[in-house]
Amino acid sequence: MKQPISRNFPARKRIALVAHDHKKKDLIDWALYNRTELARHELFATGTTGRLLSDALDRPVHKLLSGPLGGDLQIASHIAEGKIDMLIFFWDPMEAQPHDPDVKALLRIGVVWNIPMACDRATADFLLTSPLMQAEYEAVLPDYSEYVGRRAG
Ligand code: PGA
Repeated sequence: MKQPISRNFPARKRIALVAHDHKKKDLIDWALYNRTELARHELFATGTTGRLLSDALDRPVHKLLSGPLGGDLQIASHIAEGKIDMLIFFWDPMEAQPHDPDVKALLRIGVVWNIPMACDRATADFLLTSPLMQAEYEAVLPDYSEYVGRRAG
């Protein structure tokens, strides 16, 4: 089966946001600071992050399960299915997480599908102020067809 070699990101981006517990305040501060730009896009988040974001921004956020209960994996699956265009993921470098394998899976899938990802505030600011935020974007995908063919025997 031939894989697509690019994927179109719409001008109105579907942005997933996740923050570990000690990073939630940072994410909310960042989102409030960037609320005007975020208002142009559709937001998705893991359960607790989503509730806090929706309250702080006073707008709807698509809430998935809480991260440790499978929310990170739901976001990863949305990325693989082309339903999420961008990930803002403030993971905590100072504390081990019970769902560390899920965190790793999410970060891996983001790279597999070549979506823009920010794991700290500075990168998230650079991403959100890119002119590409307002435009459609054709993301080149790695060609996985040889890999898929190899697996199919
Ligand atoms: P939460 O999940 O938004 O439900 O807290 C985030 C996470 O820990 O992955």
